[in-house]
Formats: sequence, structure tokens, C-alpha cells
Amino acid sequence: MTLFKVLHYPHVLLRKKGTPVEKFTDELREFLKNFINTMYEFDGGGLAAPQIGVSKRIFVVDFKPVFESDKFEYTKDCFKVFDKNHKEIEPKFPMVFINPQIVEKSEPIKVNWEGCLSFPNAESFNTERFLNIEIHAQNEFGEKFSVKSSHLYASVCFQHENDHLDGIMLVDRWNKNSFSEADIIADIKDFENDPAERKRMKKIKVTEASKIKFDFL
Ligand SMILES: [Zn+2]
Repeated sequence: MTLFKVLHYPHVLLRKKGTPVEKFTDELREFLKNFINTMYEFDGGGLAAPQIGVSKRIFVVDFKPVFESDKFEYTKDCFKVFDKNHKEIEPKFPMVFINPQIVEKSEPIKVNWEGCLSFPNAESFNTERFLNIEIHAQNEFGEKFSVKSSHLYASVCFQHENDHLDGIMLVDRWNKNSFSEADIIADIKDFENDPAERKRMKKIKVTEASKIKFDFL
């Protein structure tokens, strides 16, 4: 198992736009396994490829813990998955989104807290997002599928992860009156320099994905 290094703000690769995936190879599927393990290792509900320095239009999510908790109300109707023939199928997590497109967003707009693995140690930020989302994407085999969400956490997460593919970060979205960017960067540096975090990073051994020449790039 390989774990990838998650890049922290303001790393320059976080701002690079992802390009579409065209080759659905075994190496892509192997990469996705390690990418998903990276999301779990760092306790993320979602992770986008630009966050590990791979500028491709890929993100992964796992909403199962949230759907099973009582933090956000979940009903089957608020999160529907459809296969390439538009037939409704059971949601299965983790879920891989390749070349995703948000084809519809509609009101209400919700103001909600939002965190990001590229902003460790930072407070969560208040952002405005649409509640209702329809997203089309491909899975790890290139097969098309779609999701309709009116679940607050899932819809926020889709918009957040999709932003990463265009190099858009939380600092572009948050309520700028609450934090200064310099404070946020200082908090991230404190986190990286914390002895406990340094020890942890040494122990889990991360690989810099941006230095690997994957065959699907
Ligand atoms: Zn993020």
C-alpha cells in the first residue's frame, strides 16, 4: 500500500487545473486504491487528485459514516445514484468520480462550515453552497453514472471537491471577514512543525505522487 503526501495551502500545484482522464488503465485503478487509502489515513470525507499534486479530474468520497450518523439528516430520497442506463442503483462507498461535471445546482443556498485536508489545523470556514446538485461522472472503468443529491454534507462535498479540480480553494469561498490568509498560513506551518505531526508523518511514510509518471496522465 502506498500513501500519498497531501499538499497543504498555498502549494502551487493546488492551483493547477486538472485535465480530463482519457486512459482507464490498471495503473489508474491501482492509483485509486492508494488514493482512497490516503483519504482514509487523513480522515477525509473526500479527496481530490490536485490535493496530492496529480492534476487530473478525479476525486473520491465516502459519505457512509455521515449517512449513518445523526449529524445530517439522511433519507434514501436525498441521495440517488443512477447507472449509465439511468437506472437507480444502490450507493456504494468509497465512490470514485472521474471527469465529473456538476450539470445542475439549484437553491436553496446554504451557509455551512467546511474543512479541507489542504488546510490542516485551520478552523472550518463558513461558505455558501447550493443544496441540490446533479453530478455526472465516470467510474474507474470509464463507465458513466450520475448522482442527484439534496443531502447537505454530500452536496457541499461535491462542490468542494469539484472546485479543487479547477484550482479553486476554500480561501476563495470563505467569509473573508472571519480570518486573514496570513493567520491561516501560520496555522498550517505550526501544524507541520508540530513534533507529534512530524513523528506521525515519519511513521506513515508518504510518497510524493507528483513525482510519479503514471500511465493515465
Ligand atoms: Zn479540500
